[in-house]
Amino acid sequence: MKEKEKGLRYQHEIDFDVAEMYAKSNCKHCYGRGIVQMDHNFGDPIRKDRQKATKVDYCQCVHKMAKKYG
Ligand SMILES: [Zn+2]
Repeated sequence: MKEKEKGLRYQHEIDFDVAEMYAKSNCKHCYGRGIVQMDHNFGDPIRKDRQKATKVDYCQCVHKMAKKYG
């Protein structure tokens, strides 16, 4: 893993290791994983295929910790 001293805002990709490291273990949003997923259904909401886009982002607790220690 790379140095984490730069903080998260310079990273464009989600790093699951970093996320887990910063995550609050009892967080109610990410359950300690540090990652939150948001499903976006574009267009037709009736279709339930796997084409929907899933946006993955750091949880708010990760951002908070990264700010504190990063
Ligand atoms: Zn969280």
